Amino acid sequence: MAVCGLCGKSGWLLTVDGRGLCADCSPLVAGWVLQATRASDAIWHLKTIDARLRAVADLEEACRQLATYEDRQISTLTQSPRAILLGLPIMRSAIATKAVLDVAYLARQKSKSGATSSGRTSGYTSAIGQLAKLSVQFSDVVEFAAGAALLQSELDRLRFEIAMQHSEVEIAKGKLKKASEIIIGAAMALKFDQTMDSEQHDLLERARVALRALGQDSPF
Ligand SMILES: [Zn+2]
Repeated sequence: MAVCGLCGKSGWLLTVDGRGLCADCSPLVAGWVLQATRASDAIWHLKTIDARLRAVADLEEACRQLATYEDRQISTLTQSPRAILLGLPIMRSAIATKAVLDVAYLARQKSKSGATSSGRTSGYTSAIGQLAKLSVQFSDVVEFAAGAALLQSELDRLRFEIAMQHSEVEIAKGKLKKASEIIIGAAMALKFDQTMDSEQHDLLERARVALRALGQDSPF
């Protein structure tokens, strides 16, 4: 007599599939198997980060469902759904880390090749915007917020460097008052940005030295 491995239904007329499931239980598991297979095949082929992370979420949902079958010794996927679930945080982290490195690379390249001040910083502002958006969309992925904070700190430094270059141009023109105003502005921007001052003490010190060279005491 056939017995369904999931719902426990039994009877002489009951037929079960290859997994030992009755006609009611069989389509359900087939749907989750299909979702898991499709998602895991797609993850590394999808072009965008959100599409990849959505595929990971689909795989996770299917594996959570299939894990209950695994617990009843009903085999579904070639690899154990519970084992797949254990690997998902690492996979998610790898996808996010690659995304952060990619946007950071572009931002850094643009900061070197940009012709104007805004051209040099625009790569950073758009990268930070992208990462901030991803960190809202995927709140369980910590890499995006961490990447955005790192790039913000780099952008703060870049803005300081640009300001110091401007101040040197003013000094060369003999406009010392203008130059010290620019330096004070750059130092104040560091004081009020989101990056911790302790991380930027070398920049603040440079601003102090530059002001002293102009015969000024630093107001910060
Ligand atoms: Zn059943």
